[in-house]
Amino acid sequence: MVSRAAITNVRVQADRLWSSMMRLAEIGATARGGVCRLALTDLDRVARDQFLSWVRELGCEISIDTIGNIVARRPGADPARLPVMTGSHLDTQPTGGKFDGVYGVMAGLEVMRTLNDKGIRTAAPLELVVWTNEEGTRFSPIMMGSGVFTGQLSLDDMLKKQDRDGVSVQSALAAIGYDGKRNPGHPVGAYFEAHIEQGPILENEGISIGVVTGAMGQRWYDIEVIGLESHAGTTPMDSRRDALLAASRLTVRVNEIALEKGGNTRSTVGYMDVHPNSRNSIPGRVHLTVEFRGPEENMLAAMEQELNQACDRYSEPGKLDFSIRRVADIKPQPFFPPLVDVVRNAAQELSYTHMEILSGAGHDAVYMAKAGPAAMIFVPCKDGLSHNELEDAKKEDLEAGTNVLLRSMLCAAEMLE
Ligand SMILES: [Zn+2]
Repeated sequence: MVSRAAITNVRVQADRLWSSMMRLAEIGATARGGVCRLALTDLDRVARDQFLSWVRELGCEISIDTIGNIVARRPGADPARLPVMTGSHLDTQPTGGKFDGVYGVMAGLEVMRTLNDKGIRTAAPLELVVWTNEEGTRFSPIMMGSGVFTGQLSLDDMLKKQDRDGVSVQSALAAIGYDGKRNPGHPVGAYFEAHIEQGPILENEGISIGVVTGAMGQRWYDIEVIGLESHAGTTPMDSRRDALLAASRLTVRVNEIALEKGGNTRSTVGYMDVHPNSRNSIPGRVHLTVEFRGPEENMLAAMEQELNQACDRYSEPGKLDFSIRRVADIKPQPFFPPLVDVVRNAAQELSYTHMEILSGAGHDAVYMAKAGPAAMIFVPCKDGLSHNELEDAKKEDLEAGTNVLLRSMLCAAEMLE
């Protein structure tokens, strides 16, 4: 049935992949070479329309669901098989680049184009998906389309979410004509997503393919430090209750927590709001955020313990008060080991340099992994830079990732003669 020799010979066309990506980069292009194409705006519509015209040319069956996810289906020989799906997102950050999200969609398109060129049939149908609002910039939360598709987010709740101008997701979908009829969510046999790494590891190691074993867990905290505002000139140093000083000590400590723990953990203080924020007043109150990321739940729990101890230490009983609230607890999400093996084998058989890597960022694949078998393929990006207009990637790395995607999909969908 499956001819290994035939699989071995199939390759995507790097120039065609590149030119499709550059065509999409024109839609919402910024002066600094980036892309601004926020979810469900008119520019998002133009990109979606372009995508539809491409998949129509391939003869795909197209369906759009009620949260606006687009699925283009290439039929398989065996209608009883579950589809093998790939895809990503076409929306960007306000100062986004040409590669984040778009690469995964265009890689899937290039896979389908290649199969059509060669007249290759698969046993399982193949599906190429464009997820709605992955970035979460205009409408919160992030990964909305895949969250609804997998039943992790409520459709009704998401349709009511509003942007800053009070426009709801539902009316934005209708305004661009992507308020589809299909109910979101159907069983998927295997889901693969190709993506730029958005970090520096692959580039630093000089490696083309990241075999992604899972996504890090995250714990987010809101912390309020309460001291006492008082006069900066008349309050002696030893009788101050300076909330900013304590918050600063905590910030240093939070950074140390991941440095000491190692093992791919991360810790960040990214936001601080100082009250009253006046040159001549000792800060009486600070609101700051802490986020921890790590590959294992027990690491995150240990980090949380360290955070609590640090807050105790800096509170100097009677002088300062710390209130800690955990506002998000996202479990680490391993990808499906047999599918991770499929990706690794594909990279191996194609003789690409490859290594295991963890995703520190959220992706639609993380929701898909909660609902069924899923895996991801990372390729390097220049200087590890993403969510930035200067985001860049090499054509040959994009090609390598797409060949790995092609081979992985053929393996999962079972290629026929
Ligand atoms: Zn992305």
